[in-house]
Amino acid sequence: MLTATLSTLLGQPEVSAFLRGIVGRGRYANAYLFHGPHGVGKGTAALAFARAAICERVPGAAAVDAGPSLFDAAPVATAASTGDDACGECRGCRMSASLQHPDLKFLFPVSGEERSLEGTIEETLEELRKDPLFVFQYEKAASIRISQTRELIAELGYRPHTASRRVVVVRDCDRMREDQFSALLKSVEEPGASTVWVLTTARLARVPATIRSRCQRVRFRPLPESLVRETLQAAGVAESAARMLAALAGGSLARALAMRDAEPDMKSQRDAALQMLAPALDRNPAQLVQAIQKVTGYGKAGRERLRMSLEFHQLWLRDVLRLRYGAAPESLVNRDLVPVLQKLAAQLDAAEIRRRLLVLEEALRSIDGNISPDLTLFSTLSRVAGDRLGEGAWPAHAAARWDV
Ligand SMILES: [Zn+2]
Repeated sequence: MLTATLSTLLGQPEVSAFLRGIVGRGRYANAYLFHGPHGVGKGTAALAFARAAICERVPGAAAVDAGPSLFDAAPVATAASTGDDACGECRGCRMSASLQHPDLKFLFPVSGEERSLEGTIEETLEELRKDPLFVFQYEKAASIRISQTRELIAELGYRPHTASRRVVVVRDCDRMREDQFSALLKSVEEPGASTVWVLTTARLARVPATIRSRCQRVRFRPLPESLVRETLQAAGVAESAARMLAALAGGSLARALAMRDAEPDMKSQRDAALQMLAPALDRNPAQLVQAIQKVTGYGKAGRERLRMSLEFHQLWLRDVLRLRYGAAPESLVNRDLVPVLQKLAAQLDAAEIRRRLLVLEEALRSIDGNISPDLTLFSTLSRVAGDRLGEGAWPAHAAARWDV
């Protein structure tokens, strides 16, 4: 099994250095809050930090083997230990690698019925053990349940089992209930507490201010596109698909992986999305409606498809713009379509390309609202095509909502 360590964190060099500094000095704050965009490695870093903190060979790991032994006085930190990261060899590391260390508590949001909760949690942990790139995906109502924290809160009053501290990792802590936060707060404020809390969130604004102010914050950034692409390729995704996914993912490896799973055939998805523009350019509303209905759907899936369709158009136009500004064809996302892109770059001036990009951006921003995917696509593509096609027959973009 591949276990992430602080020294192998992907694309977060400042975070990695900061956390290793803490482990190396052996001085921990009571609580840390890892925040930043979705899917950039906060959860992985939190577990890596936790493993390092309970490794038996890092500074401050006094409890078990410390002190001179009867037989020889070999220091606890051996050659295998770097001193600021988990050694990967001690008994603690062997247990924490498979998330079975009694002093490493790992909470994450779950959904479903209370009686099947244990099974759900164990299944998720099993997936995570098997696949270091496992992507946590939650239903809307998923939360950290009271039954998950009750036992833990009782345990907090006692010393850690074997390590010198206990680490509690709470993934997506913004899905915790208010009363859970206050129970947590009590433990965070206790002087001399032997528990280190590591909370993660992609929605900092939803974490109560009382919690935010008591945590040391650690900020994560979007991952470089090239790193997302390389990671996808290493995971077996073909080069051209990896390039597109990385460009679509906006620095989130989790988003790229989720898209790979949802739509394995990127090229045909892209082609279907781009082809929708043809009837709009031909000013043929009936055909445009037909083309759109082939691509969109309802509910969350429909919304995701709408987002992807719009983003394909965005990537496409950005490539045209890049070519206009003299970029090399190898640097483009849609490298397989360079001749078409070049033709467009000769036809459209930069102002027109930007106008189209703005239309797309506005539509993308509206997705989280209560919109209907096909109406949004219809009005957006009409506007991208540069006219007021169908206006009157279909609601204009801003009014393309179910609730009016
Ligand atoms: Zn160790």
